Amino acid sequence: MTLKFEAWKAFEDIYDVLGNQEFQEALKRASTNNQAKVAKLLHERPELLGFAEEVRDLKRRSIEALGELIGKAMESLERAAAKPYYAGTAEEARTLIGKIIGSGKRIVMSKSMAATEIGLRSYLESLGNEVWETDLGEFLIQLEGSKPMHAIAPAVHMTREKASTLVAEKIKVQISRGSVEETVSAVRRFLRDKITTADVGISGANALAADTGAIVLVENESNIRLVTSTPPVHVAVVPVDKIVPTLVDAFKVAIVQAAYAGLYPPTYINIIAGPSSTADIEQVRVYGAQGPRELHVILLDNGRLKASRDPALKEQLYCIRCGRCQFECPVWVHTANTWGGPTYGGPMGIVWTAITLDPVEAGKLSYLCLGCGRCDEACPMNINISRELRHLKTLATQALRRS
Ligand code: SF4
Repeated sequence: MTLKFEAWKAFEDIYDVLGNQEFQEALKRASTNNQAKVAKLLHERPELLGFAEEVRDLKRRSIEALGELIGKAMESLERAAAKPYYAGTAEEARTLIGKIIGSGKRIVMSKSMAATEIGLRSYLESLGNEVWETDLGEFLIQLEGSKPMHAIAPAVHMTREKASTLVAEKIKVQISRGSVEETVSAVRRFLRDKITTADVGISGANALAADTGAIVLVENESNIRLVTSTPPVHVAVVPVDKIVPTLVDAFKVAIVQAAYAGLYPPTYINIIAGPSSTADIEQVRVYGAQGPRELHVILLDNGRLKASRDPALKEQLYCIRCGRCQFECPVWVHTANTWGGPTYGGPMGIVWTAITLDPVEAGKLSYLCLGCGRCDEACPMNINISRELRHLKTLATQALRRS
């Protein structure tokens, strides 16, 4: 299975959503609410600005030493009794995970852009597995058969009316049209059975600490807690740009990501440093106590190490996927992630598409960028996204001239 992407085809989707009133209304509601929430939070808690500066510095140092950190993380994961794997490409990652899981399993997933990047859900289904997304937004995307429309709010393009109707139709339950409470409750009941009977849980990560091999995951729904602790096997897909030197660094990344996503304080921060175990009987360590007995960690490269050596693109690897630049972008607030590539979207998404898939195709999409620089100002990592987009425009223009 090869993931291909042609930019000109994406323009058809963009034109479609520009004429879709419900899509536009949902984006307007979400971006207005989110912008106000984050502005208020940063005003009331200026210490978060200082945290963001610290994280930018530690991300810069981490990306400079990325190759070394990958090696350290692999060693630490082994020490923690996890099984680490390095995947150079999306295809390698899929194959590794396919071998770990096999077929005929029930799999529950927590929201992971990395999993979307490698086409994991459809690949596992093609092997004969039953796969369920457990993040509410991602579950709505699965029911709709679409793609995530924002880094932390996948179903940002759906109004409450659309979400309730979709859930009622697809899982065959009664929900009052537009009732968020009833929609959440129906999804909870439906997914609870899938989670408690699943063979495998799959997660992403907000950060991975090279010193301990600990994975840090931040959330509000508690689905990540359940997915990573209920099934007997946990597979984590961790893009290598998320590796930072220490557990304290990883914790800071999670705090800043939550704050700039408008979810501060986050309800839960999960730290997972190995499979569950007990040594309560004669101090003999046995794995598989109440949580998973196996933890497999796929360190996904897919263009990132190469980008870390590219002066025009390496800043993007500081990105903590908070989605701030998307809500602030005057183009994204009308297109959502229909603009950006098959997985990522908006200003940051175009650059991620360039890194993980195809710089020239990504460059064609950057023609829609207005060059206003609002993404640069909003980004907690001070990434000069508009400069990266200009670079990609140049690449695409050169390629078009040659063709
Ligand atoms: S580029 Fe910056 S603002 Fe955009 S998602 Fe990444 S860290 Fe957040």
